[in-house]
Amino acid sequence: MPQVNRRELLGSLGTLAAGGWIGLSAEEVFAQPASSTSSPREYTLPPLGYDYDALEPHIDAQTMKLHHDVHHNGYVKGLNAALAGLADAQRSGNYDDVHKLTGQLAFHGSGHALHTVFWKNMKKGGGGSPKGALAKGVERDFGGFDKFQAQFSKAAATVEGSGWGILAWEPLSGRLLTFGAEKHQNLTMWGCVPLLVLDVWEHAYYLKYQNRRGDYVSAFWNVVDWDNVAERHSLAVQLGA
Ligand code: MN
Repeated sequence: MPQVNRRELLGSLGTLAAGGWIGLSAEEVFAQPASSTSSPREYTLPPLGYDYDALEPHIDAQTMKLHHDVHHNGYVKGLNAALAGLADAQRSGNYDDVHKLTGQLAFHGSGHALHTVFWKNMKKGGGGSPKGALAKGVERDFGGFDKFQAQFSKAAATVEGSGWGILAWEPLSGRLLTFGAEKHQNLTMWGCVPLLVLDVWEHAYYLKYQNRRGDYVSAFWNVVDWDNVAERHSLAVQLGA
């Protein structure tokens, strides 16, 4: 990607510049505003972008359909419901439920953001290893692709309960990090931009892999879209410059 200045890049990305939304268009994250940009916007379920069976045999069609249409859609609905609840509180002046509502906002909002990245991180015929600046970053920060893969796989396989394996860009120091995030919002670092995420909630793999999460993590490497990850990396580095 050619160098663009930070202001131009932020302008072109609009409100989607921060965090998990990087590299996504407004249409992929929000329903269209009802009247003007000053109107509140609802979140919407982005299309998968490929067929349910595109990632077979590594991730099965039944899991993909349930995961996208039911689970991800549930996060979108929950996010909009939490926002509606907060709007009600603001209108009525009754803030008794703010603790519960902000908890739902964080839970469903994080779920929506990470699933939206997750679908983009994969493609039919994916796999291999990254090229270009991302490959150099992986070499510098993990000691090579094999070592990165081992660290990410271990982080994903050993998340306690539900969660995510995450490769992220940390803009304060300018480095790549991996996390094993419990649920959606725990054991992550604020300010990091997720580049590559792997859903390790049981709904993501149990139909095909049952309790063999490690086998699912191994299979994931066959469907990673490294071009997408490299694009996110490039945008994240420029935003943090
Ligand atoms: Mn999921």
